[in-house]
Amino acid sequence: MTATSDVHLPEPFTGTGTIKSPATDSVVGEVRWTDPADVPRMVAGLRSAQQEWAARGPKSRAKVLARYAVWLGEHREEIESLLIKETGKSAVDAAQEVPLIIMVISYYIKTMEKALAPESRPASLPFLAIKKITVHYRPRPVVGVIAPWNYPVANLLMDTVGALAAGCSVLLKPSERTPLTAELLLRGWIDSGAPDVMAIVQGGRAAVEAVVDNSDYIQFTGSSATGAKVMERAARRLTPVSLELGGKDPMLVLDDADIELAAHAAVWGAMFNAGQTCVSVERVYVLAAVYDQFVAAVVRDVEKLSMGAGDGHDFGAMIDESQLAVTERHVADALAKGATAATGGRRAPGPGSFYLPTVLVDVDHSMACMTEETFGPTLPIMKVASVDEAIRLANDSPYGLSAAVFSADVARAEAVAVQLDCGAVNINDVISNLMCTTAPMGGWKTSGMGARFGGAEGLRKFCRQEAVVAPRTAVGAGGNYYNNSPKALKRMNTLMTKLALIGPKRAAR
Ligand code: NAD
Repeated sequence: MTATSDVHLPEPFTGTGTIKSPATDSVVGEVRWTDPADVPRMVAGLRSAQQEWAARGPKSRAKVLARYAVWLGEHREEIESLLIKETGKSAVDAAQEVPLIIMVISYYIKTMEKALAPESRPASLPFLAIKKITVHYRPRPVVGVIAPWNYPVANLLMDTVGALAAGCSVLLKPSERTPLTAELLLRGWIDSGAPDVMAIVQGGRAAVEAVVDNSDYIQFTGSSATGAKVMERAARRLTPVSLELGGKDPMLVLDDADIELAAHAAVWGAMFNAGQTCVSVERVYVLAAVYDQFVAAVVRDVEKLSMGAGDGHDFGAMIDESQLAVTERHVADALAKGATAATGGRRAPGPGSFYLPTVLVDVDHSMACMTEETFGPTLPIMKVASVDEAIRLANDSPYGLSAAVFSADVARAEAVAVQLDCGAVNINDVISNLMCTTAPMGGWKTSGMGARFGGAEGLRKFCRQEAVVAPRTAVGAGGNYYNNSPKALKRMNTLMTKLALIGPKRAAR
């Protein structure tokens, strides 16, 4: 697990802070850090506003969310311009975030009424048909959403809009490195005429702890190391958590794959957002028969890439020097153990925290670049002798977020996909499962716990389930109460056992 977190947190965050661009080092703006002692008061306000928000029902909430989607669409340029300044992203990378959130809102406003409606459940056995069983989805009052810096819009709002749709209030804790984008997104919520069910806590570890200590549910996105700390803290109050954590996603290129397509996908999947994407392609396993062709196509693509913040570039800066240092360490370790940099292999000259897009070959699992999350613009490629070897190596990881398989035979790729230990597999594509809001997006092993999206589940996770069991008829009620004779109780239990055994006896034949 990469413990990036503590490196970045020069506590305490008090008074105001200056946010600088990682691409130019110029000042982007000032942030007022929240005093953690104010968090209980903020949460009390959210709790009170949430009651009306929940009571107004899904239809009315959908209207507010729709207005927010429109606001996001109308302010896309302003948001992206701030994003670029705050993170050093290229314009094409920054342009991916707002549309994703509008898409998610659009899905929820269409589905939320049905997903959140009380659900009738059938009786499990015929003799229980006397009961009417209903499951109600009641919002958790305050959801704390703790987010990383790599997608300051998408990672902050993907879960937030689901929690709001479910009828919760949301307490946001953006990354201390991208607080300004979060402030703009809150302004949009207010400008959309929405009630006070969203607030922001700005800061570092102490801010996170205050959010965890005061919320009813925690949606955390970030590194696996911090996720474990958040879960430990939440356990003190038995607060449920959903954790979206780090990854070391493998791509498998089979011998019948469209090599041009696989190479384009690998390069984009690895370099998009300077490799600072949880589901980026972090390592590739290529069947020997197509290895040389694949490496040549990848290197050709990578050498055409342009790096820089804003317009005219493919990808931008790394968020800061500490993130760049992880990439430098992984590349140095690989080179020292016998790998070769087919292109790149060092930081870019000049100002800003830029690292050259790097392709590493002759790599193996003794190297950190194949086993630890790099989160940088690197693409290590390993030659394998068989599909079984590719699967074994792909699964040889503490992470299990997502993966990609390339093959001309989709059925063959699907058979490989279900042998990979991870939360999602894209076939002949990368990262695209993120747009499939009907499917769950979550990780196995140290990549997470729970999932976002997943159809109705994406909203229901923000609710507590309440079962209401009502009589359909007075007949049979109270058969096991003390006021019945012991003989009658015995008769009833014998009858229940016989009735319950009908199914197992039939199935056991
Ligand atoms: P991080 O864990 O350092 O920070 C995430 C959040 O936790 C931030 O808000 C930060 O302020 C807070 N935090 C940091 N250290 C803390 C501590 N010791 N105690 C309490 N809170 C702390 O992660 P990051 O560097 O901001 O983001 C990169 C990581 O996030 C990568 O591992 C990446 O894979 C992961 N990520 C996962 C997903 C996903 O959906 N699975 C999405 C994006 C990023």
